[in-house]
Amino acid sequence: MLSTLRNIVQEVNSARDLQEALDIIVSRVQKAMGTEVCSVYLLDPVSNRYILMATEGLYRESVGQVSMGYSEGLVGLVGSREEPINLEDAPSHPRYRYFPETGEERFRSFLGVPIIHHRRLMGVLVVQQRENTRCFDEGEEAFLVTISAQLAGVIAHSEATGAISGLSLTGEEAHDVSFNGVPGAPGVAIGTGVVVYPAADLDLVPEKGTEDIDQELDLFRAAVQAVREDIERVAKRLSSQLRPEEQALFDVYLRMLGDEALPGEVANRIREGIWAQGALKQVVQQYVRHFEMMDDHYLQERAVDIRDLGRRLLSRLQEGEQKDLEYPERTVLVSEELTPSMLGEVPKGRLVGLVSVKGSSNSHVAILARAMGVPTVMGLVDIPVNQLDGKELVVDGFEGQLYASPSADLRSFYQEICDEENELIRGLEALRDKPCETTDGHRLALLVNTGLMTDVVRSLSHGAEGIGLYRTEVPFMIKDRFPSEQEQREYYREQLEAFAPNPVTMRTLDIGGDKALTYFPIQEENPFLGWRGIRVTLDHPEIFLVQVRAMLKASEGLNNLQIMLPMISNISEVEESLHLIYRVYHEVREEGYQIHMPKVGVMVEIPAVVYQIRELAERVDFLSVGSNDLTQYLLAVDRNNPRVAQLYHSYHPAVLQALVRVAQDAHSVGKPVGICGELAGDPGGALLLMAMGYDSLSMNAASLPKVKSVIRSVNREWAIQLLEDVLLLDSPHVIKSCVDLALRNAGFGRYLRPGRTSGAALAESAAS
Ligand code: PEP
Ligand code: MG
Repeated sequence: MLSTLRNIVQEVNSARDLQEALDIIVSRVQKAMGTEVCSVYLLDPVSNRYILMATEGLYRESVGQVSMGYSEGLVGLVGSREEPINLEDAPSHPRYRYFPETGEERFRSFLGVPIIHHRRLMGVLVVQQRENTRCFDEGEEAFLVTISAQLAGVIAHSEATGAISGLSLTGEEAHDVSFNGVPGAPGVAIGTGVVVYPAADLDLVPEKGTEDIDQELDLFRAAVQAVREDIERVAKRLSSQLRPEEQALFDVYLRMLGDEALPGEVANRIREGIWAQGALKQVVQQYVRHFEMMDDHYLQERAVDIRDLGRRLLSRLQEGEQKDLEYPERTVLVSEELTPSMLGEVPKGRLVGLVSVKGSSNSHVAILARAMGVPTVMGLVDIPVNQLDGKELVVDGFEGQLYASPSADLRSFYQEICDEENELIRGLEALRDKPCETTDGHRLALLVNTGLMTDVVRSLSHGAEGIGLYRTEVPFMIKDRFPSEQEQREYYREQLEAFAPNPVTMRTLDIGGDKALTYFPIQEENPFLGWRGIRVTLDHPEIFLVQVRAMLKASEGLNNLQIMLPMISNISEVEESLHLIYRVYHEVREEGYQIHMPKVGVMVEIPAVVYQIRELAERVDFLSVGSNDLTQYLLAVDRNNPRVAQLYHSYHPAVLQALVRVAQDAHSVGKPVGICGELAGDPGGALLLMAMGYDSLSMNAASLPKVKSVIRSVNREWAIQLLEDVLLLDSPHVIKSCVDLALRNAGFGRYLRPGRTSGAALAESAAS
């Protein structure tokens, strides 16, 4: 059963469009279950009706013609109950509804299962049988449920592909279908999609045609020749170390590269007008599928060889290609997984928006995007990325939505929002040199989070009073080896000089988790609970010591350096780090540098330290809460996983209670406490944090003017009352709605965009 299931899913995965996928489903399921009818009904979101989309066994002419209301018939019943219905004699059921066009009066037994994707009901999969002598048994029911669960994602993906081309389920024109992801960075962007993909990943090659068939053929032939030479060279080099049967593997590879084999088929597809990379992808995938479906284990393994060859050919084809990518004036960068270096490839001034399939609002690339002020949507899990290349896109970073090929109406609606936003930002420029102070004189420091030099420039023009978090891993991430002490010193000096005499808080290297260095890979089952931050650098003092030395030397004559330690979970980690920092300090002074001992602080981002704040605070000069990780660890919600993004909520009562406690305990031993997670840059979050008594808020530069204008307009007593009220509530959504409402009442409605969830949340709030 398992292999049947695997084969069906694989076949469906390779379908070119939704219709082909559905046709494969009905025909394979009908055969596998030995039943007379298998049909798929999809729920059309526009008409809210089920449409018969594919069938094996009913009259084919009825496909696309028969439809039924949301709660009509047995199909409607399966959909509304969201569970399987298995009937021996369907026509005698009160909800049975007869459609003469399908010819289904002949069939008596009925088994229907819902197709559900991420809580969304997409349709119903049905099998039917003529005689009531046959009732579908439990095993068959379980099989159909399994198939349906596996296929829901594939159907969602194919449906999205149609929608991007402006087609509805039934193939009619459909415009302005929104794809829902997670807000990554606020703002709206209208521009042209440019799909970027990591080199040599066949799955991510976009489908494109070619105008110049001869040129693509030449490119492909050259790639084949180059790979052939590579393999011959490797075979020769290894000949003395391998047994003859192992050597034979290279002969297999070379035979596959013979003109009659894989290259011949790829060339044929190129002649049909497909670009070389796309043709290679299609042929390799077809071969891989073919081999994977074989029962013979040896032959199954050949799929691995084909994939490997495919990658080698692709990387030859892609040599130098990424560099030639054309970036239009208004580029919306789209990728399966965006990386900071991809952002860096776009010429200055052309990047207007970002779209990423993987990741969530607290992924580091989203944080980077917020720092750069580039509207971003993350976690668009069902979007067929390749289809977005060259399309006009609207990125709604407030709501986490994406539109492809928008209608004129939708474009002008979003253009208005863009214009309003620009006007708002211009209006806030006047606040640049004003202090961040409530109307009753409570003052707090507004700092910025930086990583790149561009952040510094933006921050200064927004009136930041220092750096609350310099993510030193960012300069490490854009290199292909560890930066030398001298290189680090130059990066650090730039940051320190730009803000002197104001404080610049440099965090020691925080790699691991989702922050990978290509040249120092960390492979772990559970990276967020693994070797991360201070755990890595204490295990590698050579990295830590060089970094601290570079920081201290860079601070000479400026005296505004502060050092901060990430991912602390134990007092001993602080003591060990302090010991190393003191050691470097004395050594650097002995070398003749005129430096001061910097203040040293600890990040509060692991729940355990919430309960050891006093002990920690007594050992260091300051504390800073990393609310991004603290939220992730308190709620056990991966900050990058779009599937659970709706559970990631920094307004969760448990997070707010922890934040209150941290501020109180730090102050009880007389130590300042700030916050440098994203909550600080959220106008509502900033209000609550100010009420809790946080001494400084550090955020991305783009949020700073809005936060300052909100805090300057309110009275601290009012904010404390708001905090007390929301601490009595137990739902994060209700808390968020209350804070939003308070902001609206205070005249800051324009800082909020009507959220998709806010309506529901308000209803929930009203009901409670
Ligand atoms: C945090 O965890 O809140 C934080 C500021 O650090 P980072 O986002 O870099 O992990
Ligand atoms: Mg963190």
